Amino acid sequence: MDLQKNKDQVFAEVEKATFLAGRPQESVTILAVTKYADADIAGKLVETGIKHIAENRVDKFLDKYQRLKDRNLTWHLIGSLQRRKVKDVINFVDYFHALDSVKLASEIQKRAEHPIKCFLQVNISGEESKHGFTAEEAFEAIEQIREFDKIELVGLMTMAPLHADDEKLTTVFRKTNELRHQLQAKEYPNMPMTELSMGMSGDFKIAINEGATFVRIGSSFFID
Ligand SMILES: *Cc1c(COP(=O)(O)O)cnc(C)c1O
Repeated sequence: MDLQKNKDQVFAEVEKATFLAGRPQESVTILAVTKYADADIAGKLVETGIKHIAENRVDKFLDKYQRLKDRNLTWHLIGSLQRRKVKDVINFVDYFHALDSVKLASEIQKRAEHPIKCFLQVNISGEESKHGFTAEEAFEAIEQIREFDKIELVGLMTMAPLHADDEKLTTVFRKTNELRHQLQAKEYPNMPMTELSMGMSGDFKIAINEGATFVRIGSSFFID
């Protein structure tokens, strides 16, 4: 596995997709999702020039954080977080991508020692298996979350439905961006709502074309 080659390829493909979308290069941030790798390999990947690291599970996040916290990285927790684990992890997290209930927001409010940048996770496709708010629920949720000064809602996060074709992916990502605009228009002080966390190894090109500002890329960094 040639990590430098994989990293260069991922960054070049994201750069190309950003260019083709007619967007500025600095408008898209690449997160390296290291869940497939142990802390040693993740450390080697960081040495290729990674600045943003992401994990989907608390135990794995903490393991990588312990080992790599002195490397000047930005830390992203991208997977669902159980309320009882909030206190173990939240103060090490720079961006939390999976805020999927008001109860979880309330627990973060209680445990965070400073405002945490959060993405509201939404599920526009209505797939039962997916976490996240529908559009209607998102409007309700922000009326409560606006009271929480430890939560800064920087934007929306979505996971595309499995096995969706390009047309379906385009629709889901576009609707997510439209919802972001509508929520941003509320102009609540703790909700800048400028960011969109969407796009993974298989669908980041479409996501970037539809306005993604954070792409979460895992497997492409670790192919042989
Ligand atoms: C694993 C994971 C990714 C990365 O997926 P790849 O297809 O490996 O790029 C992105 N987001 C979340 C929430 C994940 O769990």
